[in-house]
Amino acid sequence: MLFDVLTIFPSLFVSPLEEGILRKARQEGKIRIQLTDIRDFADDRHATTDDRPFGGGEGMVMKPEPLTAAVEKVRAAGNTGRVILLTPQGRRYSQEIARELATESSLILVCGRYEGVDERFRAAFCEDELSIGDYILTGGELAAMVVIDSVSRLLPGVLGCPDSAERDTFSRRLLKHPQYTRPRNFRGVDVPEVLTNGNHAEIEGYRFIEAVRRTLARRPDLLIQEEFTPQESRLLQK
Ligand code: SAM
Repeated sequence: MLFDVLTIFPSLFVSPLEEGILRKARQEGKIRIQLTDIRDFADDRHATTDDRPFGGGEGMVMKPEPLTAAVEKVRAAGNTGRVILLTPQGRRYSQEIARELATESSLILVCGRYEGVDERFRAAFCEDELSIGDYILTGGELAAMVVIDSVSRLLPGVLGCPDSAERDTFSRRLLKHPQYTRPRNFRGVDVPEVLTNGNHAEIEGYRFIEAVRRTLARRPDLLIQEEFTPQESRLLQK
């Protein structure tokens, strides 16, 4: 999958995308991340990409011409994917949207700065708008990284264990069960006995009940819409 990212701070992306699973996914050619510096498309010697808002008021607004030229460049280079503006005013990003984006072969992510982008650029070029939550970041770069990271791990072959994404929190409307690793006793607290007895049916049952219990305590809003199999319903009635 190809991610083209348009930003005035391409260097922000270098280190976070060069570690762990994303690094491996890039090395294996499962994802490609191309960074475009919007400043390269400014037409003055100061590489200006922002200007004062018409009508007055605080802050600066990203000019439409460099943004447009940057989108047209990545389009001309062959990326026909959805142009997504990262903005606090967009659709609230979720695992469901990550799954939707993971079915596409390429995306173009536009990172705003300052007070945001000129409305004419937004209206003409941005086919989708995503917000990573109800708070304000200084720029869209972290939001773009959130999208790249969460979409990439859903692509075939990116996670070492293919089951892992299917059993994560939000893969259905449940939080994941609590997890334990060695040592068996840590500061006087034992791992639950059931996890050490090798009985896989019992382990699955225990994990399911713990996932439901945790979801009920922390995110009852999720649970209300979850559907259970007959076998799961029997476990819940016990
Ligand atoms: N003045 C804008 C407003 O009130 O809607 C906020 C601008 S914010 C300081 C600068 C840039 O950060 C935005 O253009 C956007 O690209 C990015 N940004 C900020 N918060 C975000 C969020 N929650 N999700 C996605 N992008 C965000």
